[in-house]
Amino acid sequence: MQARWKLGSLLAPLAFLALHLGALAPAELAPPVLALPALAQQQEPPKAPQKCLKCHDQGRLPCSEHPSAECEWELDVLYCSEISGCAVCGGVGWVDCKDCEDAVAEKWLVDRRAKVAARKTALKFIDDAMKREVRKGESAHMVLVWEMEEMKVEKRRLSRHELLHLYLKRLETLYADFSARLQVNEKLFAGKPNIYVWYMPQDHDQCGLSLLEQNAKGGVKLLGPTPRYTICGNKQNFRDDDALHRNIVHSTTHLLLSCVAVPGWMGNIKGGWMDEGLAHWFEDRYWGICDNYCYQEQNSNVDFKGGKFRLAVRRMVAEGKAPPVAEVMQQNVDTLTLPMHAVCMSYVDYLINQDGAKFYALSKKLKAKVPSGDALKEIYGMRPLEFEAVWKAFVLATYPTR
Ligand SMILES: [Zn+2]
Ligand SMILES: [Zn+2]
Ligand SMILES: [Zn+2]
Ligand SMILES: [Zn+2]
Repeated sequence: MQARWKLGSLLAPLAFLALHLGALAPAELAPPVLALPALAQQQEPPKAPQKCLKCHDQGRLPCSEHPSAECEWELDVLYCSEISGCAVCGGVGWVDCKDCEDAVAEKWLVDRRAKVAARKTALKFIDDAMKREVRKGESAHMVLVWEMEEMKVEKRRLSRHELLHLYLKRLETLYADFSARLQVNEKLFAGKPNIYVWYMPQDHDQCGLSLLEQNAKGGVKLLGPTPRYTICGNKQNFRDDDALHRNIVHSTTHLLLSCVAVPGWMGNIKGGWMDEGLAHWFEDRYWGICDNYCYQEQNSNVDFKGGKFRLAVRRMVAEGKAPPVAEVMQQNVDTLTLPMHAVCMSYVDYLINQDGAKFYALSKKLKAKVPSGDALKEIYGMRPLEFEAVWKAFVLATYPTR
């Protein structure tokens, strides 16, 4: 069974990519799709004749207190507040099958129960700050508070519980993609990003004040070793699931970048281009649209060319109107102009496609306050002017004209 769980968690990100990467070149999608049959063959061990008809030799059964389909969701997380108080399964969602003996499954159940209890204690600070129990979950690399109402996702109305699991899964997908692109592993992250999503503006306010040292109408980030993000996700701020998802992808990218390797924020020490650029890059990667901007004073309804950065960047480069690299690489997040936001996404696009490991090395230099020009020369072997020339050629050769 363990092989199947592993396979499940490996396949999940690929399925997500297939759904959302309309903007990607087919060549980039081809390898994972081709790799699937081989992967499936490798991981499926030869099956022994079935002995227990009750649990199909899983050694465990869905807890009788919850719908069995929902128990499947619990396999992907370490903790879920929706079932954590269950006296029958101890918050695991699964119980031992009494019709058969399976030492591995029994040990797994005991371990899971202990972990649920430990996570419940570790996450209590959030309930304390909010003065009530809030809906939340924790997965391998993320903590999510989900105090939202039911919501439509691709034409289906999802319960609050299912949305909690869906968003945790999406966050794990982003984590896996971020790690693969920058070629980093989980040992390099100082802590788990905490993402707090509220329906009520007053909850978002209170969370900001109690857990992030400040509040604001828009999203608030606390960057560094255990980064946090709070956002009011209701209809007034986000028209649909896609818009909210995109905001969370943008903001969680900031959180991940701030807690990998040397914890810290590069966005206020002239690394604004990389910080915003990477956050936009993930928006562009999944949706082909960038519409989230980080300003000191949160600006609502900011729009630059309908969010179609690739198109806008190509046009600026072709018309000689792109802001100069030397100038862009001097800015903090809050001094970037809209055209600068667009070219930042494109700088990241070029550099990360050249070499993800070098991009990661560059990020460490920027956090250490090495000027971008020097860091670029050291890691990529290019001075800013040389970079500007190759980047422009790349844009003209590969970006869409309409
Ligand atoms: Zn059994
Ligand atoms: Zn759950
Ligand atoms: Zn239960
Ligand atoms: Zn941002």
